[in-house]
Amino acid sequence: MFEDKNNPKEIENLGEFGLINHLTSQIKLKNPTSVKGVGDDAAVIAPSKNKQIVVTTDMLVEGIHFDLLYTPFKHLGYKAVTVNLSDVYAMNAVPTQITVSIAVSNKISIEALEELYAGMLLACEIYGVDLVGGDTTSSNSGLIISITAVGEAEKKEIVYRNGAKENDLICVSGDLGGAFVGLQLLEREKQIFNENPAIQPDFSGYDYVLERQLKPEPRQDVIDMFKELDVLPTSMIDISDGLSSELIHLCTQSEVGCAIYEHKIPIDPSTVIGAEELKLSPTVCALNGGEDYELLFTISLDNYEKIKDQKRVSIIGHITSNKGQYQLVSNDEVVHPLTAQGWNALQGRN
Ligand code: ADP
Ligand code: MG
Repeated sequence: MFEDKNNPKEIENLGEFGLINHLTSQIKLKNPTSVKGVGDDAAVIAPSKNKQIVVTTDMLVEGIHFDLLYTPFKHLGYKAVTVNLSDVYAMNAVPTQITVSIAVSNKISIEALEELYAGMLLACEIYGVDLVGGDTTSSNSGLIISITAVGEAEKKEIVYRNGAKENDLICVSGDLGGAFVGLQLLEREKQIFNENPAIQPDFSGYDYVLERQLKPEPRQDVIDMFKELDVLPTSMIDISDGLSSELIHLCTQSEVGCAIYEHKIPIDPSTVIGAEELKLSPTVCALNGGEDYELLFTISLDNYEKIKDQKRVSIIGHITSNKGQYQLVSNDEVVHPLTAQGWNALQGRN
């Protein structure tokens, strides 16, 4: 896609405009709502008739949200986009455009930025989104990527966090805990590498959890499923910080309580194996791990028949009228209070 790899290009030689042009010249707009993309003072987006616009933004900071030692640039670009799309899907909306802002330190090569953009543009291709603008600046403290995603949905389709009602079923897509186990394995290998760089990491058998960490997929398919089944969740959130803290967000905003069951929490067998090797409880990884980018949502009991046989969805509990009481019923049938111990970027990585 780009020129001679043996003749590395310097960012300084290209200049800011040259760099922007270099990174964005391949972009072809796909959506009729993308009227003007990169190249003017602002992008122009035409909302479709009767639609409302959702906007979300996320910033990723080197050393806080990602570690370049074990994160390939292409994966980083892909993930930077998909975590934003996940927020759009969590509103039950369809993402249509993104803007990308980067602050780049002089340690980073242009080849690395090309890889970053290749990952971002791949995610745009797969999820049908246009990259319509951004900003480029320099950084003295590592790479920063900030992405804003725009999406649209009909007013009546938008699902908020605050609509959960007593007796609603609590559902989660996919499986949980894998991204956290993947991260812990990468961190363990990093430590071994720092102590002895001659030892090569051995990740055989861990493909699934590593992919969950490095290349998460947003659940577009779940949004499509809602349309096919004609189900509108009463509330929804995506799981970026861990099941417990996201569930508490839903309940707090909806002014309700909840009860979930440990044995119903979906965990992939390879997550269980990885967690056990790391001497971690798979359930704790699923509850507190985060970065799974699955959807947590509630549906009214009337929709039970439509949802119950969906392989991509697990029903893990129900909403109660006990505002402020969040319960986890463990496998030995003991009731534990759920606490929000999800990973918090402000406290650094643990
Ligand atoms: P301004 O100085 O008016 O902010 P810029 O020179 O920053 O304009 O940007 C010129 C065009 O390039 C704009 O359309 C902007 O959205 C786009 N752009 C700038 N940086 C990036 C980037 N990193 N990725 C994609 N588009 C970018
Ligand atoms: Mg600018």
